Amino acid sequence: MKPKIIVHGGASRSSNDEPDRKKDVINACKIGYEVLLEKDAVEAVEIAIRNLEASAFLNAGVGSYLQLDGRVRMDASIMKDDLSAGAVIGIEDVEHPISVARRVMESTQHVILSGRLATEFAHSEGFPRYDPRTRPKVNLWMEIMEEFRQKTTYEQIFHVDQYLKEGRFTLGTVGCVAMDSNGRIAAGTSTGGLKMNVPGRVGDSGIIGAGTYCSKYGGVSCTGYGEKILVLSLGKQVVNYLKFRESTNAMGAAEYGIEELNSLHAHGGIICIDKQGNIGYGHNTKAMAMHFIE
Ligand code: ASP
Repeated sequence: MKPKIIVHGGASRSSNDEPDRKKDVINACKIGYEVLLEKDAVEAVEIAIRNLEASAFLNAGVGSYLQLDGRVRMDASIMKDDLSAGAVIGIEDVEHPISVARRVMESTQHVILSGRLATEFAHSEGFPRYDPRTRPKVNLWMEIMEEFRQKTTYEQIFHVDQYLKEGRFTLGTVGCVAMDSNGRIAAGTSTGGLKMNVPGRVGDSGIIGAGTYCSKYGGVSCTGYGEKILVLSLGKQVVNYLKFRESTNAMGAAEYGIEELNSLHAHGGIICIDKQGNIGYGHNTKAMAMHFIE
């Protein structure tokens, strides 16, 4: 079977920073594909996402948005078509949350580790301490804090929904789905969450079945309005669509997923690969940085 890989760098309401994001997305996709020629799908997904996490133009790993309290907390998840999965939520002080998620999958009995103990787990496993804040993201945080202070009470800030509707958020979550030469599929997603994420808020990207899902029927990574992706269990729904509608391919399933988002007036994007190796994608935003090789 010919290997395939698809990568995204987040669905976005504005396309202002699209060229930089796009360049890093294409690069990560090519690196992932090189790995796929030699190794398996999960290795390719991890390496592609590590490269995306290293980009300051994206919102995952290095360059993640700071949360409301000035700290970076990241979510990541990875899943294989045999239903093994690993994830971290609210992890701090690491460069590559996706690799910690993979370690959770491969070296523990658990699926998700969260918060301070996820960070402790990572460091105890030998992942180096790393501050993922970049100067532009710190400056942005200071600017927005100033604006919030003038216009908003702290309590109002908890109504993240209101700010999303006002279009305050640009996105840059990353994800990858790959199929290797043995026809095995893996999927993963990694994010710094929303811009000005309320501390403690959990989005979809670290949740198996929401931001990421993979079974023998296909693999999916979602991006966008996390609260809506969560309540839709969007990743799982897209894979179920592939499972129960045999006439559908990955593109049809992605379109179905976007219709689900539309039904909740939520913005976002989806990438997927089905069991035949078809690639699918869709978004209802102005832009989604994305690249695939098949
Ligand atoms: N889905 C992510 C979250 O809600 C954000 C994104 O995709 O950009 O945390």
